[in-house]
Amino acid sequence: MSPEKKKLRRYHKVKSEDVAALAAIAGRQNIVVAPEKLLDYGRDETPLLEPVLPEIVIKPQNTRAISALLKYADDKRIPVTTRGGGTGLSGGCVPLRGGIVLSLEKMDRLLEIDHDNFAAVAQPGLQLGSLRDSLEAVGLSYPVALGEMTATVGGSVATNAGGMNAVKYGVTRHHVLGLEAVLANGEIIRTGGKFVKCSSGYDLTQLLAGSEGTLAVITEVTLKLQIKPACREALFIPFHNLQQAIESVPEILMLGRVPVGLEFMEESILQIAEGYTGKKLPYRSFEAFLLVLAEADSQDEIADYFCEVEAVVRKHGAADALVPPGRLAMKKLLEAREGFYHAIKKFAPMQILDAVVPRSEIARFVADVKKLEPKYGIPVVVYGHAGDGNVHLHPINRGMPYATWKRKLVSLMKDIYELCDSYGGAVSGEHGIGIDKKEFFNSTGDKAVLKTLKNIKAALDPHYVLNPGKIFD
Ligand SMILES: Cc1cc2nc3c(=O)[nH]c(=O)nc-3n(C[C@H](O)[C@H](O)[C@H](O)COP(=O)(O)OP(=O)(O)OC[C@H]3O[C@@H](n4cnc5c(N)ncnc54)[C@H](O)[C@@H]3O)c2cc1C
Repeated sequence: MSPEKKKLRRYHKVKSEDVAALAAIAGRQNIVVAPEKLLDYGRDETPLLEPVLPEIVIKPQNTRAISALLKYADDKRIPVTTRGGGTGLSGGCVPLRGGIVLSLEKMDRLLEIDHDNFAAVAQPGLQLGSLRDSLEAVGLSYPVALGEMTATVGGSVATNAGGMNAVKYGVTRHHVLGLEAVLANGEIIRTGGKFVKCSSGYDLTQLLAGSEGTLAVITEVTLKLQIKPACREALFIPFHNLQQAIESVPEILMLGRVPVGLEFMEESILQIAEGYTGKKLPYRSFEAFLLVLAEADSQDEIADYFCEVEAVVRKHGAADALVPPGRLAMKKLLEAREGFYHAIKKFAPMQILDAVVPRSEIARFVADVKKLEPKYGIPVVVYGHAGDGNVHLHPINRGMPYATWKRKLVSLMKDIYELCDSYGGAVSGEHGIGIDKKEFFNSTGDKAVLKTLKNIKAALDPHYVLNPGKIFD
């Protein structure tokens, strides 16, 4: 046995008497133990990650049941991994140490839309797409838009998800007003409320946002809403080179209006996306592109803004600036962007990194990453949220023996994360640490910060039953 293995905490294995006790708490119909059904709960969307089977899946229907389940698991030292939509890209909901997967799929109701307070109250298992549709029907909006809208409210809060609209609206944590959550010992807490201001003690709402199921199970979320903007348009800008495209970003952001999203992409990703969707995209002979998304009260306001953007990007060598002609063309373009991840996944074996650097450093960071390609013989497909510094990097395998590629990949990723660190960045901009980035987070992170995080974990979950093995060991 390796020294690392020896150090692993020992947990109680789920036995038949535990299954009976857990079924008595949650209801027999909410328990899954059949081995053939467990696999779906042992993985998420993270590439290259081997599934790990839970010993039991429980689908609680209310907070009271979760409280009793956690108390039982904590007393018995059974690991509990909370699962939302399973769309995560860091292995966060993979039950690394077995035990219980707490799937919140049956707690999926939108409990309230409060027009007076511009707030919505949702159960954690509600999918973001469903939330968007319900709000749009009454002229309201929750502006966090992920590339995968089957992600849940609870999962997106637990990962502090970002998405394409973050330049203007910020990330998930900026829209969470309050939470109901169950602590490891089964205690139920309520934080925040339907108000924006609060300076009453430590901010537990914000501590739990982004805690990846390691500190508590989120059982209800109060979200901040806004009026749905009247118009939304996209501007697609081809460049002869990637550096020019990225370098124009700071100047675009200095214009009077803040774009909703500001994305950059290389030509190679458009080629891959075309192959995946079977739909032709414009200006394919250029090396790089910017996509500017804007919202306003009128088309005229957006047209004026896009004229200003065009003047800036032309100065930086843009070949054109194109507003997709009509709703259908815009839908096609945005669908292609949203489909990047699945397109690359289908195209070749790949890994995903979602490093974040100050946006003024993106151009130099990406140029340095590109210099690593010949060193390892691994192409790195790059695109991302240029407006907020979050770069998605996909090292892909084009015909290298798989074992060699995986070995080189580890060194390549280490180099990329070190570069990111040297530019004042962080390991993950929006997907979380989970299992996948644990090693890099722990090796590049500030040691005093890591110690503080571990102290918080020990205070809230002294028996380490909540999602063990995530963020750190
Ligand atoms: C195609 C694609 C596009 C994507 N685009 C984006 C994007 O644009 N921006 C972005 O940020 N992410 C994106 N993601 C990643 C993913 O969708 C997000 O991380 C999302 O927030 C995960 O939500 P989920 O409900 O699927 O959570 P899961 O994957 O089920 O879980 C994620 C983490 O949250 C914890 N968790 C889940 N529910 C709770 C709860 N109620 N209480 C406590 N902990 C909980 C889990 O234990 C785990 O650690 C994308 C993924 C895919 C596959």
